[in-house]
Amino acid sequence: MSVTKRAVKLVQRCPRLAWYSDRVRLPLDETARWRMAMGNRIGDIARQRYPNGLLLPWKDGLEPTKAALASDVADALFEASFQVDDLVTRVDVLERIPGGWRLIEFKSGASVKAEYEQEAFFQTYVLERCGVPIQDVCIGFVNTGYCWPGGDEYDPNELLRVESVWEKRDKWLPKIEAAVRVAREAMFREDGPPRLLARKCFRPDDCDYLERCHPEATEGTIFHIPDIFWRDADALVEKGIVFAKDLPADVDQKESTRRTLAAMQSGVPDIDPALTRVLDMVKFPALFLDFETVGSALPLFPGTKPYENIQFQWSAHVLEAPDQPESEWKHIEYLPTDASDPRESFCSSLLPLLMNAASVVHYSPFEERQLGALNSAEIPGGKECHELLRAKQWDLMVAIKENVFHPGFKGKVSIKVTLPNLVEGFSYEGLTIKDGQAAQIAYLRMIDPETSPADAAQIRADLLAYCRLDTEAMVRIFQALRTAA
Ligand code: SF4
Repeated sequence: MSVTKRAVKLVQRCPRLAWYSDRVRLPLDETARWRMAMGNRIGDIARQRYPNGLLLPWKDGLEPTKAALASDVADALFEASFQVDDLVTRVDVLERIPGGWRLIEFKSGASVKAEYEQEAFFQTYVLERCGVPIQDVCIGFVNTGYCWPGGDEYDPNELLRVESVWEKRDKWLPKIEAAVRVAREAMFREDGPPRLLARKCFRPDDCDYLERCHPEATEGTIFHIPDIFWRDADALVEKGIVFAKDLPADVDQKESTRRTLAAMQSGVPDIDPALTRVLDMVKFPALFLDFETVGSALPLFPGTKPYENIQFQWSAHVLEAPDQPESEWKHIEYLPTDASDPRESFCSSLLPLLMNAASVVHYSPFEERQLGALNSAEIPGGKECHELLRAKQWDLMVAIKENVFHPGFKGKVSIKVTLPNLVEGFSYEGLTIKDGQAAQIAYLRMIDPETSPADAAQIRADLLAYCRLDTEAMVRIFQALRTAA
């Protein structure tokens, strides 16, 4: 057993999480695998900044690292391995500078973050214990100001920026020392640290081990109440109040929270009478619209920047009347068949639909933001599309959030949650692509020249099915709400 930078990071959230992560390996999902692959590509590009660098072996790298440190064969060492006692680490880049070494941790993020600094200073902590004189600590990150001119490669000095965080050394090292102590205590306990239910189990997202650790708390807890006051929630757990049904009536809550809570306690949905008037605001013909976009650390098309959102797909259902039967719904979609910049044809294909619609129904402000981005990027047709959407838009998610208090929402109003609760027999289960993140990865795979034509065709079919369900779901929810209101 060893203490790694990952353990030190996880222990900040929860000691038991660090313990689990070392003993119960969960399979990586597609998103995690893709993130790792992107991190590796950034690492490859970062090394190009150091022409006289030496890549050390990933496995059994301790002795080769010692030999390289003792010689002057290279100005920079890549993936150097270190171990002292139970502390182990590997460093992206060690650059030789006067008096010692500069440690550089490269990340695919777009700025210096505290979690990156923590990792870099954990490495510093280990290396200094190994007797390596560290004279500087830097974070390398993606430069979102870099406009890629196109070509076969990215300029490693333009794509990546390196910033020194050396002045934070005195602040970080005592924190690392304390975190290492907590990690050691957590990792080496046979039965693991205590399972303490608190907001850390649900924020920033549900803990991967929630079902294993607290099977009783995967739904119905006070943490599943929307717009909960999170600090109050931890205090309530300390008093033994874990489930929404046990919440005392005198706890101060917003009106919407109070109504959701009542629905959770009774098991009966509460639909505000105002919903009828809100639904009546949709004019027909109505366009139910959904977009898919991709943002990549490595610019995809000449003239674009890292993480610039590229709008690559839309799906639309057109209804001539609110209660039009399914057999008469019209479905139209756009997804390019080649790997060129899709944004101009995205706009030109969408524009006539926006012109003909009386209302444009979307779910969340996402679509408006995307057309705003196309407008700002001066993509032909972007301005017209943006203006039309702004004049005709109606947000189904807002209508639900303000008027539907459903026990099955569990504090969330994403369409993946609302669809199965409001429309019996429909959900995203069974689709190959189930969320926007997976759609981004699928698109990148589809346009990758190394993907076989057969695989690309299958991915295309999966993307079309996913985006189509988004707008079909909106229509079904809209009609179900009209019946229920
Ligand atoms: S569910 Fe909560 S207590 Fe259990 S490991 Fe996760 S964060 Fe820790």
